[in-house]
Amino acid sequence: LFLTFEGIDGSGKSTQARMLAEHLRAQGHEVVLTREPGGSAGAEEIRSLVLEGDPDRWSAETEILLFTAARRDHLERTIEPALAAGKVVICDRFADSTRMYQGLSRGDLRNLVDQLHSLMIGREPDMTLLIDMDPETGLARAKGRQGTEERFEDFGPELQKKMRAGFLALADEFPDRFHIVDGNRDMDSVAQDVTEIVQAALR
Ligand code: C5P
Repeated sequence: LFLTFEGIDGSGKSTQARMLAEHLRAQGHEVVLTREPGGSAGAEEIRSLVLEGDPDRWSAETEILLFTAARRDHLERTIEPALAAGKVVICDRFADSTRMYQGLSRGDLRNLVDQLHSLMIGREPDMTLLIDMDPETGLARAKGRQGTEERFEDFGPELQKKMRAGFLALADEFPDRFHIVDGNRDMDSVAQDVTEIVQAALR
């Protein structure tokens, strides 16, 4: 079973991914918890190349190539082997994040993202949990933990709103695998909803 978490920065998806992993492990499932960009040695190197340093270092197109290369490595080295071994894979962000961030934030490049995806990745998650969050709250939370990696130079409130709307539209586009969870609540309530959705799928 391949599960992904998506949402804007500060939506709490990383916390939810971790809580779900703990919950499933306690039930005896073998779980691989991973993240993007990153999730394999090579992909983590690409993550640093893209997220650290001058945000204008790469063109929008080159950035899409780098994210796709990172995802391909992550898929080959981490995700596919774990799924083949019958493990549950929980991934914090996947291709939907690239459809949003690289596909929408620097012009309309969704087509390029999708073309490269079908050429080099060709896999969608079985289930995607979209932690939906008020953009202002998300930004405030994310800024509170701002590190060298977070790219808030160009991630102001307008973009945050656009990303939120984009994720909701993506949920409409892929209704079979998307589940929207209201992230504007305490983390235990959110986690309870997430668990119920995933348990229904595991049955
Ligand atoms: O999800 P995480 O906090 O690890 O993401 C790190 C940074 O990379 C965030 O600022 C996020 O918005 C950005 N990002 C991006 N494109 C992606 C995935 C993440 O710009 N495809």
